[in-house]
Parts: sequence; C-alpha cells; structure tokens
Amino acid sequence: MHPSSEYCYANWFLAEKCNFRCFYCSVVNPQRPKRLIRKIKSVVSPSRRRYSLYDELDGVIERFLRTGRKITFGFTGGEPLIYPHFAEICKRLTSFDEFSISIDSNLSTDAIFRITESVFPEKVEYIFSALHVLERERVFGEIDSFIERVLWLKNEGYRIDVNYVMHPILFDRIERDYRYCLDKGLKLSIKKFKGVYQGKKYPASYTAEMKDYLRENFPSESSCDPFGSRNFLGRNCNSGMSIVNIWESGDITRCIADTTSLGNVYSGFDLNETAQPCIMANCPCFDPIRLFDDMDHAPEIGPLSVRIARIRQAFHVLKRVWQQS
Ligand code: SF4
Ligand code: SF4
Repeated sequence: MHPSSEYCYANWFLAEKCNFRCFYCSVVNPQRPKRLIRKIKSVVSPSRRRYSLYDELDGVIERFLRTGRKITFGFTGGEPLIYPHFAEICKRLTSFDEFSISIDSNLSTDAIFRITESVFPEKVEYIFSALHVLERERVFGEIDSFIERVLWLKNEGYRIDVNYVMHPILFDRIERDYRYCLDKGLKLSIKKFKGVYQGKKYPASYTAEMKDYLRENFPSESSCDPFGSRNFLGRNCNSGMSIVNIWESGDITRCIADTTSLGNVYSGFDLNETAQPCIMANCPCFDPIRLFDDMDHAPEIGPLSVRIARIRQAFHVLKRVWQQS
C-alpha cells in the first residue's frame, strides 16, 4: 500500500462510448432520467466544450507532476480502447516514472496490442475485464479469441482479472461458461449483479437457488447486501487525496458520491493534502480499505446530521447525473 499523501489513484471516466451494447450496462443504456437530462442539456448548453485528452496531454501531465505524487490513472468508461489515440496517451503517460495506468476494458479491439508494444507490465497496475458473454457471442460468434487474448496478456506478465457478473438472465449458463473458461486455463471472478432488472433490485431479489449457488461456489460473493455497511459519515476519508474521480469533462471530484469539485484536469486542480471527513450518508465507493487509515475510529453522528447528509447526498446525485449526461 502506498503512503496515502504521496500516491493517488485517479479513476478516470474517459468517455461514455462503447463498441459493445451489453443489455445490463447503465452507460450505453442510460435510464430515463439521464436520457431526459441529456436532452435538456443539449438545449441549455449546446456548445459545451469537449476536450481531447490527446491534444491537451502536455498540460495535463504538467499539472499532475506538480502534485508531487505518484499517480495511477485508472482508465474506465465506456470503453477506453476506442478513445482517440488511447495507446499513444498510455505510452506518453507511462514514460514518466511518476505515472502508471490501469485499464477497465472489454479487450475487444487490437488497440490493446498497441499499448503492450510500448507499456511494460510493471507500468500497468491492473487490467480489469469481463466476459460479457452474450455480447461477445453476438459480435464475434465465439469467446475463444477473448480467452486467448487474456491468456496471452497473463503470459506477458500483465496482471489481469476477468469478471463474470451473475445477472439473473445468465444464471442458466453460468456454470457451463465457468467450466468452459476454466478448461481453457482462464479462471473467472464471479460477481453478484448489483442493479435493477425487471423492476426488482439485485442481489436482494436472487432466488433461493441462485443464493445457494453463490454460497456454495463463491462464498465471498454470497452476501445479498449490495454494499454491506456503508455509512462512513464523519470519518476521515482519504478520497480527494489518495483516490479521486475524473469525469468525461475533466472535472475532478473527491469520489462518485461527493461531487464537490477539486478543479479540472484541463485547467487546474488541487488535491486534498489530508484525509477529510465524509459528508455523505451512504458510500457507494468500492474498496473501503483504501479509504481509511483508521477503520475503527467512527465518530458519533446525531440523527440531524444524518438527515442533512441525506439531503446533501440527493443534491450530489443530481449533480453527478447532470455532469455525466
Ligand atoms: S463492455 Fe462495459 S461499457 Fe461496454 S456496454 Fe458492456 S458493460 Fe457497458
Ligand atoms: S462517500 Fe465514501 S469515498 Fe466518498 S467521502 Fe464518503 S467515505 Fe469517502
């Protein structure tokens, strides 16, 4: 673990575009409120400036070097591999000792090979991928080429994890897919589905059979509480200092929930120098271990503070939907 004031993981939502159309994806299939907001935005701010990271790269690099921290740029989307000049961006960033990358990708284009030509495994903290089995079968008619690609990356020394989300619609085939990949040498990480399908919330709505399957085969995923206990209100949290979110616009916020602006990568920003109290009533962020130096220190918070935090959180959710639309 890096000392938190000297390191920052920048979770960067590069663009909301993808060459896949996974039916469970909230990025390519935005829900109705988001579609409506997109329409309103196109009317009220039709000429919103969109930056090209490739064109602005020198300035962006300079601003991150000025922070004096080691940075991992965690590129996600949408699909980062289809972002213009993505391989060149990765090559340039990783030419600096201070910077490394991680990529969240469906690995469906050969851009991944242009990246591995110039970015060595030690500069890639992680590659996160997913089988997206239905979409891969629809587009390519098979999944073997994906498995081969993953095994090749592993063999070259890249750390890579491949998820398989247990969506209710995939339940009938999950065991078959899991065994098929395992026989070819790829162990999938089975993940419970966290979301809404046909008006029901998952994983809480998994059937008894689905819950038993998870409990017996993948116990670490068997809790049907989607986030566990996630009220960190008032705790000193490292987000904004050692973890930040960067949105498509270049705006930097502390985390997904707290959209208080820390600036913009294309014009200037200041990261927090110390851990700051969480002001949200619920934390939707992953990996709380990275967020707190002292998990045991939970401040006393009264019901009024929680109510205020809930109202504030509702405002931040709206702000995030607006920013991302
Ligand atoms: S590959 Fe990922 S980003 Fe693309 S549609 Fe599927 S879930 Fe969404
Ligand atoms: S919502 Fe989560 S990540 Fe954000 S400040 Fe609170 S504890 Fe930290």
